[in-house]
Amino acid sequence: MSGTHKPMERFDHNAREALADGRLRSALRKATGQFGERRRAAIEDFGAEEWQALRERGRALKDEALASLDVLLERFASRATAAGTRVHWARDAREACEVVAGIATAAGAKAVVKAKSMTTEELRLDEHLTQRGFESVETDLGEWIVQLAGEVPSHIIVPAIHRSKESIAELFHEHLGTDPGADVIALTAAARQALRTRFLAADLGISGVNFAVAETGSILILENEGNARLTTTLPRVHVAVMGIEKVIARLADLPVFLRLLPRAGTGQRLTSYQSLLTGPGGRGGGEGPRELHVVILDNGRSRMLSRAVTRQALACIRCGACLNVCPVYQNVGGHAYGSVYPGPIGAVITPQLAGLGRGAALPFASTLCGACRDVCPVAIDIPALLLDLRAEVVAQPKPARRLERLAFALWSFVVRGRRRFEFATAFARFAQRFLITGDRIRSGPMALGVWTKGRDLRPLAKDSFRALWERGLKDEGTPR
Ligand code: SF4
Repeated sequence: MSGTHKPMERFDHNAREALADGRLRSALRKATGQFGERRRAAIEDFGAEEWQALRERGRALKDEALASLDVLLERFASRATAAGTRVHWARDAREACEVVAGIATAAGAKAVVKAKSMTTEELRLDEHLTQRGFESVETDLGEWIVQLAGEVPSHIIVPAIHRSKESIAELFHEHLGTDPGADVIALTAAARQALRTRFLAADLGISGVNFAVAETGSILILENEGNARLTTTLPRVHVAVMGIEKVIARLADLPVFLRLLPRAGTGQRLTSYQSLLTGPGGRGGGEGPRELHVVILDNGRSRMLSRAVTRQALACIRCGACLNVCPVYQNVGGHAYGSVYPGPIGAVITPQLAGLGRGAALPFASTLCGACRDVCPVAIDIPALLLDLRAEVVAQPKPARRLERLAFALWSFVVRGRRRFEFATAFARFAQRFLITGDRIRSGPMALGVWTKGRDLRPLAKDSFRALWERGLKDEGTPR
């Protein structure tokens, strides 16, 4: 099982490799199936109509925030500063990593603990801190597992979803000396014991942000393990990294998202720990860190904001529900996408963050079945976004695309003239005789061969409908 990111340009190849991995597929099927069941039960319990109304409310609040993002970000920054938080702005991953490393250096930090944050994964912050000589340890159990294994997360809320319990027991045996047959309780206890010493030794804690409230300058961090609470309270300095899209207008808007996110993602009524932080708790002798820094990251998000279609993706609250129901994700897992953001929403976000050149294959990693749109708690029309991106990919001036466009131009020229069409179909009827096996075309030259490798192609009927019609459809039966 390989748990590192593959090149996103080779999604097809990565997917084929993943499909051949039986352990991976069985772990994925089990976990995504459980999340799907829990989500359904949580929504039934809530009431279908109420759920729909809550989704619409959540989406309206996100749209409202995105429409005045500049104003809200400025407001958040000024209110957070007034509460004692130090706010930093980063245009891209490099700047953000430099800011965090600078804060760590100024604080004289050596040991760093991290709570789960997809934004810091996007920055590859761990790598950067390690290169700069800091010892950075993940404290979310799933994140810690993938860090121990030298892997990267494969799901936005369940980083080690690709691993079975048995493979985690093997990993812990290797690194912590636990019994190779240890059960979940023993494994969790071993992790807790190992991580507790890290928390106590850490000088700096790093977290993400689920929501930032402009009205009060507060940040909200959601988690189920309590590790984020330890990360943000025990070390002297806390750094929270957030994308610009995380800001919402009012504190009163939060309950909508607090009900939407856990139900959609894990089927919980509420996330176990909800930490709302306004300024550093340890200022003036209180409990908690003496410094709180918030790094506000753009990294391609303003580009997404500039178009009405792509702006939709910034409404995502990272619940992971669309991954759990996606038939592509369920079979190939997260690493095949070559991005920290896999699955349907990853196929939308990644090409926009990494560029359409590198991420061109991802919008095509979807059957467009629409299951992602149906489960999304903020009603993002992911299939429409994927289609929009596909159109952009096809419009790119690439040699392969030029060939494709030439083929379609030729096709368009042929079908617009009756004689040309009749000549072409007569030729195809003659040529297909050499390609038919049974009642199917099983192989073909060049691009047709690639197409028929995975699909059945019915041959053209012996006679065209027009010919049959002109013969009065007499004694012909069903055309073959
Ligand atoms: S797109 Fe919707 S379903 Fe997918 S992670 Fe974002 S909020 Fe959740």
